[in-house]
Amino acid sequence: MNGLDLLGPDQRGLFIGGTWREAEGGERLDVVDPADGSVLTDVADGSLHDAVDALDAAVAAQAAWAKTPPRERGEILRTAFGLITDRADQFAHLMSLEMGKTVAEARGEVAYGVEFFRWYAEEAVRIHGRWMQAPAGGSRLLTIKKPVGPCLFITPWNFPLAMGTRKIGPAIAAGCTMVVKPASQTPLTMLALAGVLAEAGLPDGVLNVVTTSRHSEFSKTLQADDRLRKVSFTGSTGVGKVLVRQSADQLQRLSMELGGNAPFIVFEDADVDAAVDGAMIAKMRNMGEACTAANRFLVHRSVAQEFAEKLGRRMSGLTLGRGQDDGVDVGPLIDEKAVESVSQLVTDAIHDGATVVTGGELPTGPGYFYPPTVLLDVPVDSEINVQEIFGPVAPITTFETEDEAVRQANDTEYGLASYVYTRDLARTIRIAESLEFGMIGINSGLISNPAAPFGGVKQSGFGREGGFEGIEEYLETTYVALPAG
Ligand code: NAP
Repeated sequence: MNGLDLLGPDQRGLFIGGTWREAEGGERLDVVDPADGSVLTDVADGSLHDAVDALDAAVAAQAAWAKTPPRERGEILRTAFGLITDRADQFAHLMSLEMGKTVAEARGEVAYGVEFFRWYAEEAVRIHGRWMQAPAGGSRLLTIKKPVGPCLFITPWNFPLAMGTRKIGPAIAAGCTMVVKPASQTPLTMLALAGVLAEAGLPDGVLNVVTTSRHSEFSKTLQADDRLRKVSFTGSTGVGKVLVRQSADQLQRLSMELGGNAPFIVFEDADVDAAVDGAMIAKMRNMGEACTAANRFLVHRSVAQEFAEKLGRRMSGLTLGRGQDDGVDVGPLIDEKAVESVSQLVTDAIHDGATVVTGGELPTGPGYFYPPTVLLDVPVDSEINVQEIFGPVAPITTFETEDEAVRQANDTEYGLASYVYTRDLARTIRIAESLEFGMIGINSGLISNPAAPFGGVKQSGFGREGGFEGIEEYLETTYVALPAG
């Protein structure tokens, strides 16, 4: 099994109005295997006309879709949940192939990603407004929830399934139609997902997928169109800002899930072994290529050496290799540029005075590999503490006091995930109230959960995905004033 068998003969094309078709002009886009740099396959490279066709299809389907009974929308999601779960192994292999992560990790992403379909299948039937008497008596106040309308979804390459289902699930539940543009490096999983949703009974035009290399013109064209009502984007802060600017003319609603620079704070009273277990998850999930990845390890001076040695031992025991091979723990990074960027950050940190506990040396041979690396005594202002690393590197910086830890943690433009290890309850409450992040994991290295509101503050964006909050991103509120009668 390599997962490519999930895709039917036409399924490397565009999916518009319920039909698979070639891109206008027949252009194609290569999909590369990050484990060796070879071309795996190719997909349609959509034009701007194709983009508008996709929006036309979404607009044409919107009115009927909004009127579909919520239970029917929920049942489609529930059916898709079942189909994907039955094919979890194929999805995991396909994702591993195009993105590089191990099949075991990809299975984890399938389980996580598909849960958004089950959760929002259950939420579809719980959309409701409210009814109240006006405070002064007399009139009655009624609110109605309506779908926002046609949406544009743009997703990144690091979680090819989950970053799609987090948007598609609530949009379907709310009654919105959509155009999806997956990352051009990992389009295959989204194409497979579109096939499953069609099989589950999603009406033509509700979901349209356009793979394209023309990301800038694509978003400009669709965002200039007044029929597009919402943009939900997951990706880098830089691109997020471009999309926010482009939304101004039509005042589209926005959800922005952007970059992170998560602190992982270990206090002197922490269970160091538990902190190392948590660090392995928070750092190494997805080879460190996660917006929630622990980026800066802030460790109290009294336990820093012990933490570094124990983490170093665990990291050096990991096996690097092709994600589909048995016994591999860490797959390749997404491309050559990613390896160069991680490598440069490590070189600079060493130049700034950090010492290498483990890793740091590029392997030879094909593929975009970087070894699990731990650095100790990284100066707080070293570039590796400022930028998103997006690789398997754990830089450790020490602190002396709680105030200093909080100051260092908050000293970033980002505000997505953060992690804290302590056994002191009063400190836990103080820290949770003073960290400027959308999500805080206490004694836990894994915070993502489809039932919880995922999202950031500051330059990590705005809006929430998952939980009860996630569906609100796809609903408008209409207020109706009624006389008392
Ligand atoms: P990216 O370069 O911002 O790309 C993300 C998506 O945006 C891709 O589909 C890309 O298309 C597209 N894109 C780029 N420029 C565009 C433009 N001008 N108009 C429209 N679309 C455009 O990010 P990435 O490197 O794929 O992903 C890594 C980033 O995503 C990191 O910063 C990470 O923290 C963030 N992320 C955030 C979350 C979250 O929930 N907060 C989750 C995962 C990842 P192409 O593929 O064709 O370039």
